[in-house]
Amino acid sequence: MGWEAWSYTVFLFIVGALFGSFFNVVGLRVPKGLSVVTPRSSCGSCGRQLNAIDLIPIFGWLIRKGRCHTCNASISPVYMVGELVGGLLFAALPFMVSLHELWIAYPLVSVLLILTVSDLAYMLLPNKIIYPAMLLFTGLRLFVHPLPIWQYALGFMVGGGTLILISLVATWMGKPAMGFGDIRLMALVGLVMGIKLVLLCIFLSALLGSVIGVALIASGKLDRRSPIPYGPFIAVAGLVCFCFGDPLMTWYMDLILWQ
Ligand SMILES: [Zn+2]
Repeated sequence: MGWEAWSYTVFLFIVGALFGSFFNVVGLRVPKGLSVVTPRSSCGSCGRQLNAIDLIPIFGWLIRKGRCHTCNASISPVYMVGELVGGLLFAALPFMVSLHELWIAYPLVSVLLILTVSDLAYMLLPNKIIYPAMLLFTGLRLFVHPLPIWQYALGFMVGGGTLILISLVATWMGKPAMGFGDIRLMALVGLVMGIKLVLLCIFLSALLGSVIGVALIASGKLDRRSPIPYGPFIAVAGLVCFCFGDPLMTWYMDLILWQ
């Protein structure tokens, strides 16, 4: 990589970390019906308003060594992780996605980060984020669509429909059903990625959810009956499908056919 590519990458990382910081705020405040602009963020323990140093993404937390400057209460690294993930994804997208699909990739990563924060914090995927996102991606897909438009429309219906079916079956078996938020999010994934990739996303998110769920229960970090938010698994699986879905499918088909 030449210095020019490096400087773009570093620039995108900084922009992504700043956005990541904003996505934390949006994901934590919108579900509670709060403004994302005011009041300014403050320490959860002593109420001191965060100043310029606290607000530097990632480094603010590191400089303060994870503690409030005034009351010494420890500050959760969760915010810093959100900023780091934002920075890494923004910087990595141009290496993983075709030039045209970047128009979709940045809004997609943004929506998925906000929803992940909200689902982890409140077990909630707010309509106030998902519905505008559906409108936005419908608009974007009218202009940027490597696949025929009907594949995205079908993806929307099959993504949502499959999760409704799974929910009905789960309820019938007396198991906890999926939330409406998860159903809407999977419909959104279908709208963004089309029928083929949303099916892969359903499979991957279920696989990821089971593996991590079993690991958490086995390690005693989670009770067997306590619900875990499914949104983050859809988000991770969706992003993997968006970036690597096609090569992943080709690889899998080869694997089957060569048997
Ligand atoms: Zn404090």
